[in-house]
Amino acid sequence: MRATVMHSAGDVRIEDFRDPSIVEPTDAIMRVVRACVCGSDLWPYNSMEPSEAGQSMGHEAIGVVEDVGVEVGSVKRGDLVIMPFAISDGTCEFCHDGLQTACVHVGFFGNNGMNGAQAEVLRIPYADGTLYPVAVGEDDALLPSLLTLSDVMGTGHHAAVAAKVAPGNRVAVVGDGAVGLCGVIAAKRLGAEQIIILGRHPDRIALAHEFGATDVVSERGAEAVERVKELTGGHGVHSVLECVGLDQAVQTAIEIARPGGAVGRVGVPQHQAIPGAEPSFFGNTTVGGGPAPVRAYIEELLPDVLEGRIEPGRVFDRTVDLDGVPDGYRAMNDRESIKVMVKP
Ligand SMILES: [Zn+2]
Repeated sequence: MRATVMHSAGDVRIEDFRDPSIVEPTDAIMRVVRACVCGSDLWPYNSMEPSEAGQSMGHEAIGVVEDVGVEVGSVKRGDLVIMPFAISDGTCEFCHDGLQTACVHVGFFGNNGMNGAQAEVLRIPYADGTLYPVAVGEDDALLPSLLTLSDVMGTGHHAAVAAKVAPGNRVAVVGDGAVGLCGVIAAKRLGAEQIIILGRHPDRIALAHEFGATDVVSERGAEAVERVKELTGGHGVHSVLECVGLDQAVQTAIEIARPGGAVGRVGVPQHQAIPGAEPSFFGNTTVGGGPAPVRAYIEELLPDVLEGRIEPGRVFDRTVDLDGVPDGYRAMNDRESIKVMVKP
């Protein structure tokens, strides 16, 4: 079978491997039907130290179960499943709390030596807790939107939940990548009245408007803070969805929250300390968020996808086969594409 391996910054290759097989009785083997390239894959794409073994890439997928271990009970051969980006056992106290990304057996596909989903086949540990079966066919028109439930739509929703979006709220979304765009969908879905997107790429902004953004701020730093305040009667927004992870983005997110507001961080932090200690203190700002428990959110978001009320799959503007994956990374990195879907 073939899979995507990153060997160093900018060096993405498609390589041959032996087909994976069941190792633990709780495993499943999943054939990948659709995968994609994530904005977070671009961090190592720009900074990874050379590695001979490399890292198998990809953490978002829809697939078909090809084999299961003897202890697997909730998915079976032939099921079409959503594969959330994190492995979870489904039984520990954190899984019961709906925080599967803190599972005592957590692991992240395509990270730290774990196998990735930009591949033909992959082994899924704790298949019962991890995979979510859906009753649609392999060629269903909804596959792109269902695929976003493995990460970006669940992550955008998590940002909105952590930012305490409520009906009538003023909301800002920092970042116009796929997660930010899904954050716009999530904010609208939760009843936000004003949704300001902070971003500057015309194709992404256009989609943000279609998803429900009411205002655009393309400035950065202090000018962006100024603009958001102008748009919100001088006080800032109730809820900020921080979907970038860079220092300046977090600082801006904190500064545009109104007093008593909340910031939901889902951009993977590219820093050690959270910026904005002083403004967040004096603003009584709640700063929350983290890796989204997308497994928990599938239940809530799935009906809206199946019934067409939300169309997060529109973030995909390019589809490649496995051989096209290296160029897919390049296209996303060059901001030529919003999000690349992979059809192995
Ligand atoms: Zn668990």
